[in-house]
Amino acid sequence: MILERLQEGIVLGDGGMIFELERRGYVSAGPFTPEAVIEHPEAVRQLHTDFARAGADVLQACTYYAHPEKLKDIGMENALEDINKNAVLIAREIADTHGILVAGNLCNTWVYDPKDISTHQQTREQFEAQIYYQKDHGVDFFIAETIEYIGEALIALEAIRATDSPSMITLGFKKNDLTLDGVRIEEAFRRLEDAGADIVGINCFRDPERMLPFAERVKNSVSCYVATQPVAFRCTEDRPYFQIQEYDGRVAFPLELDPFVLTRKEMASYALKAKKLGIQYIGSCCGSAPHHIRAMAEALGKTTPNSRYSPQIELHKIIGDAAHTKEKDARILCEQRYGKAQCHLIGQKE
Ligand SMILES: [Zn+2]
Repeated sequence: MILERLQEGIVLGDGGMIFELERRGYVSAGPFTPEAVIEHPEAVRQLHTDFARAGADVLQACTYYAHPEKLKDIGMENALEDINKNAVLIAREIADTHGILVAGNLCNTWVYDPKDISTHQQTREQFEAQIYYQKDHGVDFFIAETIEYIGEALIALEAIRATDSPSMITLGFKKNDLTLDGVRIEEAFRRLEDAGADIVGINCFRDPERMLPFAERVKNSVSCYVATQPVAFRCTEDRPYFQIQEYDGRVAFPLELDPFVLTRKEMASYALKAKKLGIQYIGSCCGSAPHHIRAMAEALGKTTPNSRYSPQIELHKIIGDAAHTKEKDARILCEQRYGKAQCHLIGQKE
């Protein structure tokens, strides 16, 4: 089904479930595990609903880090089945209400070590366990995301291909264009395509500006569908990924990233740039919230269920059009009409 949708046109992904649930109080920063799917399903249901109403075509089951290695850290290894199964059931319920798709979700295992063969089997077992508990509850396709080793990504792909579901594999790149096992972007994605991936791409770590140049190289290297899911946190050329941004002399990740959140207009502009590059699956990752998704959807020409509540600035009493403005503050009125540069004297006189 995902492949048919992609054939018809761009598929819009959703936003960062885990970071947004953390912000809302239902995920602990640190473990960043999704036990909320069994402890507070209503919170997960609401966020899926928010992304669906913002125009997402796909809901990713909230199973990021729902693998044994991470569940062990919070003493919930025994909830592996419950979390994976319930996450898919919740996503399915909301997706069906909106006629959209559900992606099962796998991610970096933190177990894989390219030099230690024994970890490859452990990695495979983690992927297989998550797939086993997700696959029969309404998954349309699987996304394996945020993987930094091509070796680990290929194991995830094999595990997905053992099911009948289409596969989307996205790698994460932090400081450069190499996987952590030393394979350059072009080669890495060719290997994934050759191994049968239906959709390949990049997700997390980098903001749109730092991700799209890499995505263009992916696009030029493969003939399968390409996906981008950047973070909605501002990065720079010197600091190209979100984990090393600094705020007030401290590392901002993960608790002080608020000043780095991209605006909805920046995310809308990202969606258009990605479209221009020929990216077919345009989504987002950490930091991206429903308002970003709606702006992206509308930029791509879509009317969403919540477009009913999209901005109507002209009706605003302070910054609206002439017929609606009742504001008396001269500086606001001047800046609104003539721009900041023309109006600085007004502020000074007062
Ligand atoms: Zn992310």
